[in-house]
Formats: sequence, C-alpha cells, structure tokens
Amino acid sequence: MTMIKGIAASNGIAIAKAYKLVMPDLTVDKTTVEDVEKEIEVYEDAMSQTAKDLETIKEAASKNLSAEEAAVFDAHALVLSDPELKSQVEDKIKNEKLNAAAALEEVSTMFVSMFEAMGDEYFRERAADIKDVSRRLLANLLGKPLPNPALIDEEVIVIADDLTPSDTAQLNKNLVRGFATNIGGRTSHSAIMARSLEIPAVVACKTITEEVKSGDMIALDGIAGVVMVNPDEATIQEYVTKRDEYIAYREELKKLVNEKTVTTDGHHVELVANIGGANDLAGVKDNGGEGVGLFRTEFLYMESADLPSEDKQYEVYKEVLESMQGKPVVVRTLDIGGDKEIEAIDLPKEMNPFLGVRAVRLCFQREDIFRTQLRALLRASVHGDLRVMFPMIATLGEFRKAKGILLEEKEKLLAEGVEVSDALQVGIMIEIPAAAVLADQFAKEVDFFSIGTNDLIQYTFAADRMSSGVSYLYQPYNPSILRLIKHVIDSAHKEGKWTGMCGEMAGESLAAPLLLGLGLDEFSMSATSVLSQRKLIRSLSKAEMEELANKAINCSTMEEVVALVEAVIK
Ligand code: PEP
Ligand code: MG
Repeated sequence: MTMIKGIAASNGIAIAKAYKLVMPDLTVDKTTVEDVEKEIEVYEDAMSQTAKDLETIKEAASKNLSAEEAAVFDAHALVLSDPELKSQVEDKIKNEKLNAAAALEEVSTMFVSMFEAMGDEYFRERAADIKDVSRRLLANLLGKPLPNPALIDEEVIVIADDLTPSDTAQLNKNLVRGFATNIGGRTSHSAIMARSLEIPAVVACKTITEEVKSGDMIALDGIAGVVMVNPDEATIQEYVTKRDEYIAYREELKKLVNEKTVTTDGHHVELVANIGGANDLAGVKDNGGEGVGLFRTEFLYMESADLPSEDKQYEVYKEVLESMQGKPVVVRTLDIGGDKEIEAIDLPKEMNPFLGVRAVRLCFQREDIFRTQLRALLRASVHGDLRVMFPMIATLGEFRKAKGILLEEKEKLLAEGVEVSDALQVGIMIEIPAAAVLADQFAKEVDFFSIGTNDLIQYTFAADRMSSGVSYLYQPYNPSILRLIKHVIDSAHKEGKWTGMCGEMAGESLAAPLLLGLGLDEFSMSATSVLSQRKLIRSLSKAEMEELANKAINCSTMEEVVALVEAVIK
C-alpha cells in the first residue's frame, strides 16, 4: 500500500481500479531498411490494427457521445484508408529505404502543413484529422498503442499527467469514479470541471503516473487530497465508511435546497452556480442554486472541431435561460487561451499564454467570432434575465469597445426586426489587478462586477495557477486580496451596482464569513458547494462578519486571517 498526497480538487471519496491515461512517447528514430517488402507489410499490419481500433472506439463512443461526436471516428477511418497517404508512405519506404514509422511521420507532416496552409476552415479540420490518425497509426507501428477513454467499460479512477478541459469533458461520469493527476491546482480548469461533474479528484500528485499501473486498486479522498494505491482490506473498509458518511452528509444538506440564504440578522445573499453548459443545469437545481453566476461559454466551443453557429448558440442560451425560469443568468463571453484551447481556433504559441491573447483580447482579434456570440446572446435575451459579462478586462477602453460591439449588434438585430431585451445588464469580470484598482471608475459604466479570484490571485501574486511549484501563492486570504475585493465591492455599491464573485474562492467555507462581512451580493460557485455555503451563511451574523472582515483587512499575513476566521466557524 502506498499513500500519495496531492491537492484536494473535488470533494468525494472514490474506490475503483486505476485506468492510466498516459500518452506514450512517440519519438521516431529514422533508420534504413534492407527488406523493403517486409517493411511495407509492417505498415499494412499497423493500418489494419488502426482500422480495428477506430471501429472499436466508434462503437464504444456511440454509447457515450452524441452521433455527431461519434462521427469524428468515421472521418478518421476515411483518412486512414486514403490511397494517397498509403501510396506516398510506401513510395518513401521503397525509394528511400526509410523505416515505416519515419516514412509515415514525414508524409503526414507534409500533408498536415499543406492543409493548414490553405487557411480554409474545412482544410484545417482535415489537417487535424490527419494528425490524429497518423498519431494512432504511429503508436501502433511503434508498438505503443494510445489509451482511449472512450473504451472505458468498467468503473475506474483515471490516472493522468494532466487532463485538458476537453479530456475531462469526454469522461463518462457513470464509469469514471474519480481522477488523480501529476500536475494542476485547485483552480485549473480540469479541477473546476471535476467539481461540476461531481467527480472526486486529487491533482498535483507529482509522480502518480509512475507509481500506479492500470488495474491497481485505488482509494481516493478528494476532500483530504490523498490517494491510496493498493490499499489493504482494513483501509478499503475505512474508505467505504468515509464514502458512506460523505453521501449521508450530502443528503442532510439537501434539506436546504428550497431555503433562502439569510444570515441570523436577516441579510440576504444570492447563491448561484457556475456552469459549463446546459448539461450542468440539473446539478444547479438539485443543489438549490438561485441562478447562474457564470456560464463559461468556451466549453460550447470545445464540443466539436467547428465553431458553434449563431443558431446553435442561441438554442443553448435559450435553453439555459428558460430552464432558470426568470432567475438571473450571467453568461460570460468566450474566454479561450491560457489553459483552454479549442480545435477551431489556432492560437499563437506564446511564452506566457495566461498573459497573452486570451478572452476579449482574442475576441478583438477575431471580431467575427465575437459578433456571432453576441448576436446569439442578444437574440436569447428575451427568454429570461440575461446578464452579459466580458472576461479579462484590463482597461476601460476594452470595456467600452466590447460594449460598443454589443450595441452595434443590438442595433443591427433591431433593424432586422428581431426582438432584444431592454433589461439586459452588461458587466465585467474583475480578474486583472488593473481593473480591481480602478473599480471606482469602472463602476460608473458597468452594470455589475463579478470577481474572478482564480485569475485575480494568479495575476496579483504573479503565480501561474497551473503550477504546483507556486501553489502556495494561491492566497485568497492574504489581506492584499481582501483589500482588492473590498475596494471592488465598495466602489460598486457607491454607484448603486452589485458585485458577485465567480472564482473558486466564493465556494470555500473559510471565505464565506469574510465575503459576507465585505458586503458581497452574489456568490457563484460549483453547484455542489451551494448547500454547504448556505448552511454556513445561515449560521452567521452579517454585523459580526463586518467586524471580522475589518480586522482581517488589517492583518499582515494570510495565516493571521485564517486563524481569525477559524475561530469564528469552528
Ligand atoms: C476566475 O478567473 O476566477 C474565473 C472564474 O474564470 P476562469 O476560472 O474561467 O478563468
Ligand atoms: Mg478567469
């Protein structure tokens, strides 16, 4: 039995076998072959194996994915059987006496660059298909087949170096009981998604992919951030008990689903949820969310290799608004970049992607994409209480420009005779220190703020949210952050505007007394945190928390603040 400690990323206890989702090293050595015919046979065998793999994956995927998503594998099968690809690889083997793996690598790289250079959407997608298929084919040639989560057919705990948001989106929630990764932090997007999928997760386990084999028994504690590998019988029993206690605790909390979040002295705050798509709405309702405080629309763009059309987006926004039945829904415009990539947009490779062309910065470069999204949102605005929010705003100029584009699209729609709501609120995320410091000026022009602490903390402390090496600098309770939050809330209130928080801090129990005391109006969090925060806030007095917050902003370290709060909520 081995114990691995990591960072607790998503609450819950899971016990199941390990499934390693680790990409093999596919480095190719270029060699000269003597027996050319034999090398061609090797290539043909790898092709048949790859065709079989694609067929199996497609069958498995059709059970878990939509028909459209499963159709990707048909496109891959077509690429594999393309005679041009095959004949060019065989020519290289024959004429240059290259080994099959090197020949394939050269030919596929040539095709990929050729298609990518065409710039057209259709050819870019073909380039992506060729890349995918060649990788699978190469893996078979090298005898190191790729793992595929679509093939999981029993309950497992996924072990990986990292899971990208799109990997996480593909996990089958019914079979994937939990996951543990080498890297990541509490605010990396795979951790955030794990919480909304209610999958227990531990991240930053450093070397877990080396310490665990597929099939090992795993007991994972997403609350304490611990993974036990091949636990003995007594430890398994201990985890079964912990799991049952956690389930019972969640059941008890369910009694608060329809209750309001009111402090002991009668102050009401709104507890709303963060979602990544319409699939998360059931979780919002089951957990008593009073609305949506952050719809991360970028996940819509990750579902396929094409950009979602205006009509497709309109349908999703309409569904979310209708389903929330007049409750507030804050939709954030596209926030791609940083740790979020999408197939349909080729982002430039940057030294510091979190400081580069991300979110509105990208939308200003690709106004076509931005305008399509804004039109879909404006059209959907008549179906509920929609609030549009721009991410990564650093300057008032950026806000004015984004709002200007929104208003232009509104005018165009009205001229086309399309109805648009008059009550649409337009706000910004406060996640860049420059905007937090200048909140008093922003407050005159925006309808609301939502504080994105995940980024605000990373930018204030200059500490990459993906890096476990600097995770000690994720310090939501540092007085510097509390002072920024106070300034933002006070500035909004002075202008009669409201302030929410949609960063992970809003869902943390230690933060609730402080944020309440600082006057936060709306707390937006993973739906699974709503009920525990409600229970806690209902036990607190706003007046007392104001005193606590006052003391906290005058502390000098995070440790002092934590000690103050712990004395209150223990
Ligand atoms: C944030 O930065 O706090 C936030 C909510 O946005 P995201 O995590 O998507 O960057
Ligand atoms: Mg952010």
